[in-house]
Amino acid sequence: MNGDNNGSQSGDGSLNVGVGDFRGATVHVGSGHPAFTPEQMALKRHLALGGASVKTETLNVFGVVTGVVSIIGLYFTLFQPFPQPLHSSWSALFMFALGLAAFSFVVAAVLRRKRFEPFLFRKYYLEAGTDDGIYLSSFTATCPWCRSRMTLRNLGPKNGPRYDSFVCERNPQQHTIRLDPTVLPEIQE
Ligand SMILES: [Zn+2]
Repeated sequence: MNGDNNGSQSGDGSLNVGVGDFRGATVHVGSGHPAFTPEQMALKRHLALGGASVKTETLNVFGVVTGVVSIIGLYFTLFQPFPQPLHSSWSALFMFALGLAAFSFVVAAVLRRKRFEPFLFRKYYLEAGTDDGIYLSSFTATCPWCRSRMTLRNLGPKNGPRYDSFVCERNPQQHTIRLDPTVLPEIQE
């Protein structure tokens, strides 16, 4: 009954589900994924951490600093200027700092391009604001079919194509709406 997602199609040209680097979307073109405007879904953004943000600049500086730390850690790991007991902690520091540095750079680079990226527990997202800030946010909406609450989830297999869908709490199998992050309102700074 409600399974056929023949929701109202908006004529608004800005709603192009599946455009851009929206992973896996081409597979589903024309297969009954309707488009709704954020207004139709009563889409709400919830800024986590009280709306605190990090500047992209800060993230890059952080990446450089941890990158340097990881090189220092690598140096001590390879050459071991100190007695043995310190060895393992230096290599752990190296791995940890290297991971943080790589992560900081990747996040900064991805957000500059996409402005929106799944981040934590498949339900928290990193977003770029209008002035270089990076925010942690989650999203809810109202199901257009049954008026239940929907939450935005990053779905898909661990290593396979993932996508972001609003999932209805009452009928999570059938009431889903795939999100085109480009229709989200900007975070004004
Ligand atoms: Zn529903």
